Amino acid sequence: MAYYHIWTIGCQMNQADSEQLATSLERLGYQPTQEIDNADLVVLNSCVVRQSAENRVLGKLDSLKELKRLSPNTVIALAGCMVDSEIDRLKHRFPHVDLFLKPGQFNEFLDLAKTRTSETSSFASPRLSPTAFVTIIEGCDNFCSYCIVPYRRGREKSRSVAEVRRQVESLVERGVKEVTLLGQNVDSYGHDLPDKPVLADLLQELNSVEELARLRFLTSHPKDMSQKLIEAVASLGKVCEHISLPVQAGDDKILQAMGRGYTVQFYRELVERIRLVIPNVALATDVIVGFPGETREQFQQTIGLLSDLRFDTVHVAAYSPRPGTTAARRFKDDIPLSEKRRRLQEVEELQGNIASEINALLLGHDVEVLVEGKKKGKWYGRTRTDKLVFFEDKGDWLGQLVNIEVKKTSPWALQGSPKRSVSKV
Ligand code: SAM
Ligand code: SF4
Repeated sequence: MAYYHIWTIGCQMNQADSEQLATSLERLGYQPTQEIDNADLVVLNSCVVRQSAENRVLGKLDSLKELKRLSPNTVIALAGCMVDSEIDRLKHRFPHVDLFLKPGQFNEFLDLAKTRTSETSSFASPRLSPTAFVTIIEGCDNFCSYCIVPYRRGREKSRSVAEVRRQVESLVERGVKEVTLLGQNVDSYGHDLPDKPVLADLLQELNSVEELARLRFLTSHPKDMSQKLIEAVASLGKVCEHISLPVQAGDDKILQAMGRGYTVQFYRELVERIRLVIPNVALATDVIVGFPGETREQFQQTIGLLSDLRFDTVHVAAYSPRPGTTAARRFKDDIPLSEKRRRLQEVEELQGNIASEINALLLGHDVEVLVEGKKKGKWYGRTRTDKLVFFEDKGDWLGQLVNIEVKKTSPWALQGSPKRSVSKV
């Protein structure tokens, strides 16, 4: 038996790439293993969006030196955003790594994997978890001044509606109930395709896939979110009321320096329009604190925006200069780390209180949960609004939609008990 181990860090695109790779390896007869020392193939799917992520990848790479020394036949591959076009430099820096694979480009690795095993899986299509990611648009054309993604993942490239539908149908045949469509900027989906479909058209097409229960999409760019898309979310039954709409900052000057292409007023009005058309929508956002030159007053504008708009979820990060980006070249990283940490904590505290109040409103209500698995004896899954829910029950709920009566809430999760199965799609 041959084994593979994939270590993944970073965004959902990386997770999607790793899921695809795992499926391909299992078709070749490989089995997953948690024990990295037992693996014949090891893949690190890396992220360099922030220095902290890059440091974790470097630590992991370092720990693999000993593995390679003890078992030189183990194939080690570095994949994802750490792999730039200077492969020779990477080879020199990490001589114990056999292959360097740009984001999502696994062909060379799979060719090598084929030569290493004579087995093929008896399960041509391994059964999957009830939720899956499907990338619909690769790359990004936006070049926000702080962001390294366009340099590593290249320009936008959409997959055709037919190709995405085929993949979703194949996932559904293998037990998937919920699909999240992915792109760094999903709202610009289709502009590069011959018949120029938009995301709303794709959602409409996928809404008709029988046996699929739910659809989501990530990540939206405020400047590209159309009214047609908002209306599609409201009217298509399978599309969940959950939108991820990174704002990044609450001050116009900072937004301009970030190159985001919208103002705070535009963003506020967009949120208002979304909430008008989709009344129970859950909104998530991303914020960067300590961008070069961000004054305390400008940071307070971000705090004011978060207090006013009351998001369900806020992902907050301290600015991290990324070599090669416009911000790293043009602006001095002048906010001390201690001040960045203080701002980050202030956002987290505020959001903890807001999420706690929003979630408390669900106490005593029923929520529909798609059960994804079991952790420490408890079933868990998510609501249509992406809230994590835990419950205890002896039954087998995996992959089922179940109504849960909410008995306890916190800023991060809900707990409850099952009422009855909604459907066994
Ligand atoms: N495409 C999405 C968007 O438009 O916001 C998100 C992509 S990015 C990989 C994920 C998040 O990482 C961003 O929303 C941003 O908050 C954060 N991020 C990106 N570059 C960063 C940097 N240099 N420093 C700190 N955070 C960063
Ligand atoms: Fe990065 Fe901006 Fe593209 Fe998002 S939209 S991936 S933040 S450049």
